[in-house]
Amino acid sequence: MEKLTILDAAHTIRFHLGELLDADEAETLEHNLDALLKKAESDILALLCGNDITRKWTDEFLNAAEEVRKSYSGLPGVQSQASGGMLKYICPERNCTEYWYSRDADEDIPECPKHNKNLIKDRS
Ligand SMILES: [Zn+2]
Repeated sequence: MEKLTILDAAHTIRFHLGELLDADEAETLEHNLDALLKKAESDILALLCGNDITRKWTDEFLNAAEEVRKSYSGLPGVQSQASGGMLKYICPERNCTEYWYSRDADEDIPECPKHNKNLIKDRS
């Protein structure tokens, strides 16, 4: 099993809080977790916007993702079926959490940095 990150844990545990805690605790924890995740996102955004090149890249990435979302109903778990500019690629190793979005059909598909294997289209 690949080493997962604390952010993976934070995103994933949100789906399980109802089973793990009583309703009040679950609600409070989810609320605090969401606030922290939002803060992390805005800190990351601020970092990426601190450099013209990464700001432009991030802008384009988020806009492309937005296009895909608009052309799709947005049900969770079915994003990878969306057509449009963005295609999700995943590592062929089971349990590997590396992924990457192709923004352009001509773009070279990168390798998983952990396994040095070519990423494959996500069909899940
Ligand atoms: Zn991998």
